[in-house]
Amino acid sequence: MVSTPAPAQPRRQYATHDVTNQPPALTPYDASEDTALMEALHREGAGWAEEGVRRLGLRAGSAEAQEWAEQANVHEPVLRTHDRYGNRVDEVDFHPSWHHLMRTAVAEGLAAAPWAEDRAGAHVARTAGGLVWGHTDAGHGCPTSMTYAAVPALRAQPELAKIYEPLLTSREYEPGLRVPTEKRGLLAGMGMTEKQGGSDVRTNTTTAWPTAEPGVYQLRGHKWFTSAPMCDVFLVLAQAPEGLSCFLVPRILPDGSRNTFRIQRLKDKLGNRSNASSEPEFDGTVGWLVGPEGRGVKTIIEMVNCTRLDCVMMSATLMRKTLVEAGHHVRHRSAFGARLIDKPLMRNVLADLALESEAATTLTLRLAGAADRAVRGDAGEAAFRRIATAVGKYWVTKRGPAFTAEALECLGGNGYVEESGMPRHYREAPLLSIWEGSGNVNALDVLRALTREAGTAEALFGELSLARGADARLDAAVVRLESQLASGSESGARRLVELMALTLQASLLVRHAPPAVADAFCASRLGGDWGHAFGTLPDAVDLDAVLNRALPGGS
Ligand SMILES: Cc1cc2nc3c(=O)[nH]c(=O)nc-3n(C[C@H](O)[C@H](O)[C@H](O)COP(=O)(O)OP(=O)(O)OC[C@H]3O[C@@H](n4cnc5c(N)ncnc54)[C@H](O)[C@@H]3O)c2cc1C
Repeated sequence: MVSTPAPAQPRRQYATHDVTNQPPALTPYDASEDTALMEALHREGAGWAEEGVRRLGLRAGSAEAQEWAEQANVHEPVLRTHDRYGNRVDEVDFHPSWHHLMRTAVAEGLAAAPWAEDRAGAHVARTAGGLVWGHTDAGHGCPTSMTYAAVPALRAQPELAKIYEPLLTSREYEPGLRVPTEKRGLLAGMGMTEKQGGSDVRTNTTTAWPTAEPGVYQLRGHKWFTSAPMCDVFLVLAQAPEGLSCFLVPRILPDGSRNTFRIQRLKDKLGNRSNASSEPEFDGTVGWLVGPEGRGVKTIIEMVNCTRLDCVMMSATLMRKTLVEAGHHVRHRSAFGARLIDKPLMRNVLADLALESEAATTLTLRLAGAADRAVRGDAGEAAFRRIATAVGKYWVTKRGPAFTAEALECLGGNGYVEESGMPRHYREAPLLSIWEGSGNVNALDVLRALTREAGTAEALFGELSLARGADARLDAAVVRLESQLASGSESGARRLVELMALTLQASLLVRHAPPAVADAFCASRLGGDWGHAFGTLPDAVDLDAVLNRALPGGS
């Protein structure tokens, strides 16, 4: 008699229990599966880049790229100040994963490539690429951002720009110390902050003395923060005879000798650990003047405007990445008899996060569109970009830490454990509101722009007026904003800029997002009927509509 075999039992991994109710790996996934991002890409004039952004999104969510991101943060950069014979080398060694991330980012045009493209929308395409590639690692976004941002500042010295711009805008990543003009591609850093003052760069003590050669100076002093010290060239502020000035400082001089760039140590940072941030010292260091002597802040502000946009972009990408992780977890985890995604209160939390994420993404790409059109000579967009980038930098980066903490909590205890990746994203978030103008400095910059720079208030209110009449709560908020603006005080700057940011985000969603999303945003951010934590959306909000739009694969 033939006996029927017993049904195969799943092989137990543990003698004591089976592993159940843990989500499957999210990776591989498509980081470009983001409806709000794709719609904004088209709206802001870079629909032609969709295929590339989708390809990069798949790459970002691949097991390989996610592994690079993890490894680059586990194996942190190491400073070698001296060689075995006692000679100074001032080199930073990186794990191969860092170089893979950098090579991909540069090749995909996430550094300075858009400046070499005539095509309208090039800067939008780069920002969208950054939004999806940012699902990997934030640290390497620092040198790519500074390289992007250095170009418009360098243009203040056309003869230097002629030599270095083609190399900065190259899509070739060529690490290592060599004569810059002999490399296929260059990276740029920035040295402003000193021990006695970061926001207040007028207190810089590094000096710059002209040499006999026109435009060539010798720098002496230090910087307290200079990230990505392995870059090829740096824009550095120093006090010249006519006042604070901007200089281009190469690490290797044209004759192949080392410029003095002593890296004293690397910072032991809360996050951003794949990236190196250093304290360099200059002593007889050669620097080439960029822009007029004494106008260093005006020159380097061109760079800061671009890195500020990237701070908004990096915060938005952290939001989206952690939302995707949270959505994945709660779809596969059950508690108290049902999947977490089906629990009404969890749906409220996720929908609230989804709203915040969409508002951040939409604003990021609107700012990128303004930058793109400003570069091509649109004065109205230049004025809008000036005010709205500072507003967005203040608010979106300020929301990052609270957002990533809440998304992390959706994973329960798993979210607090390093291997989930969530602690890394959480630690990254506060940095974006510190560098390139900390919260207060940004808020005060908005006040300064409004009072001193013609056309900025008109540009902002012109943008808000495009949504007039579509939502009563938004209309009321704009009226409130106008009256607060009239009595704008320094101590009330954060309050004012927050209201500006919320009305701007609401107006964009009212104009471009599905009505349920716009309604939920206005109800919870402008309507006066909301709590302070995420997950406090009012009952009338259509949670299903918000979640179905935000989460890949539905909810
Ligand atoms: C990881 C990391 C990397 C960095 N990389 C670089 C780099 O590559 N190059 C570079 O040049 N710098 C870099 N920085 C420095 C960074 O830009 C500064 O730390 C930042 O601008 C703040 O300056 P500060 O640290 O001197 O703080 P401060 O200027 O002393 O500010 C301290 C606090 O006071 C607030 N504040 C300042 N002025 C006012 C005011 N008028 N009213 C009210 N409040 C005010 C600020 O908002 C802040 O909260 C880096 C910083 C970090 C953390």
